Amino acid sequence: MNELAGSQYLIEFIYLIASALFILSLKWMSSPATARHGIWAGEIGMVLAIAGTLLHHGIVDWKWIVIALVLGSGIGIPLGMVQMTAVPQRTALSHAFGALCVTLVGTAEFYLRTPNVPKFMMSVLAMEVILGSLTFTGSLMAAGKLQEVLPQRPITYKGQNLVNLGLLGVAVVAAVYLVLHPEAKQFFPIMVAIPLVFGVFMVIPIGGADMPTVISLLNGYAGLSAAAMGFVLQNKLLIIAGALDGSSGLILSVIMSKAMNRSFTNVLFGAFGQVQAAVAGAQEARPVHSATAEEAAAILAAANKVVIVPGYGMAVAQAQHKVRELYDILTKKGVEVRFAIHPVAGRMPGHMNVLLAEADIPYDRLIEMEEINGDFPQTDVALVIGANDVTNPAARTDASSPIYGMPILDVDKAHTVMVIKRSMSPGFAGIDNPLYYLDNTLMLFGDAKQFVGAIVRELSGGH
Ligand code: NDP
Repeated sequence: MNELAGSQYLIEFIYLIASALFILSLKWMSSPATARHGIWAGEIGMVLAIAGTLLHHGIVDWKWIVIALVLGSGIGIPLGMVQMTAVPQRTALSHAFGALCVTLVGTAEFYLRTPNVPKFMMSVLAMEVILGSLTFTGSLMAAGKLQEVLPQRPITYKGQNLVNLGLLGVAVVAAVYLVLHPEAKQFFPIMVAIPLVFGVFMVIPIGGADMPTVISLLNGYAGLSAAAMGFVLQNKLLIIAGALDGSSGLILSVIMSKAMNRSFTNVLFGAFGQVQAAVAGAQEARPVHSATAEEAAAILAAANKVVIVPGYGMAVAQAQHKVRELYDILTKKGVEVRFAIHPVAGRMPGHMNVLLAEADIPYDRLIEMEEINGDFPQTDVALVIGANDVTNPAARTDASSPIYGMPILDVDKAHTVMVIKRSMSPGFAGIDNPLYYLDNTLMLFGDAKQFVGAIVRELSGGH
């Protein structure tokens, strides 16, 4: 008995340290200077959490646990070794698997306990299972959209709002009935199946440009369902970790929805307000001005102020080190070079900051959108490298555009705009960019790494 109490104290103590590490991890990750410590704190916290759980006296057989650990690590390790550009869909898959696990645990707990499930317990169990199931399918849909195996364009139809709210309503009614009558087992499958369908329906009307908000929202839902599971299993660490995950996910979605200028309710209800179809596909061939690396180098060398706007294409091309060389050479020539950072440039929050930091570009040269936008009219050259949606002036001027209202980098106001990309293809939102047809825009067609490399060679005298 004493031994049992002792091991319980040890587990609680380990959980306490793990919780403190999770909190420190989030705190440290909020600044680039301490972010690496934050990752370490989070990882050590998670190892402690797993170790503490494995000490649990309730474990009677290790066989299945070991099999699951080996299998999970065998799948998880290679899955984690993706290119940085694929991290968002990888993260969406993690949310999906986490949510599936929460749903399965909730289902097992229900069938183990029913019909003796107290009302509070049944309420949190219902929350766990509903959030878990909708997060599972919603995250799979989001991963599919990010991997571009599913269409990024919103799929909408008349009455969508009503259908989705109706579905959620049926699941909630089933949950309330089960809280009152936990012996009515036949309602449980309904409470699981309907949110699974809702998760799919919730994500299909959401367009590419809104994906950052959706990912953070699903992160929040996954955290909240895990916290609910903590109540069901009476595991304090799970409650704390789930609450941290849930609240940070929800805070990030608020930040992202602000960056996209969408109201949070609009986002919460799956951007239902945005029913206009994204117009892509057949665009008439309009003339554009293009230039060579030699011409681009001459324009850059003659400039006083240059603002570089990185985007997803820079990440795909892994052009950040060449961009650093361009920064060095222009700075040496006395040109003032700064980088304009849009909050949703790339495919994950902070994507551009991470890439530019990796190439050792000084952090004080990275300027946030609100701060730099006023400077574009005094900028000689805005050099856009693989960015598209975040520079699309239609967001400012065209009320029928799916991204209308989203704040963008006002590169079109610079004296000259140069855009490095391979073709006239649209960005993630799947829409045309009127920036490319302006008189002050020069298209530099090519791969970002190769084209920036060619400009650097021209600037350094062709060697
Ligand atoms: P976009 O996706 O709008 O555009 C990227 C551009 O890069 C494309 O037009 C493409 O044109 C070009 N490109 C691709 N490969 C290369 C290459 N090798 N060399 C040169 N250019 C290349 O990117 P942005 O960063 O402007 O905008 C991000 C978009 O992603 C927004 O819509 C945002 O909402 C969304 N998003 C953002 C997330 C986040 O958290 N940051 C998460 C999920 C989505 P081409 O094919 O002609 O080369």
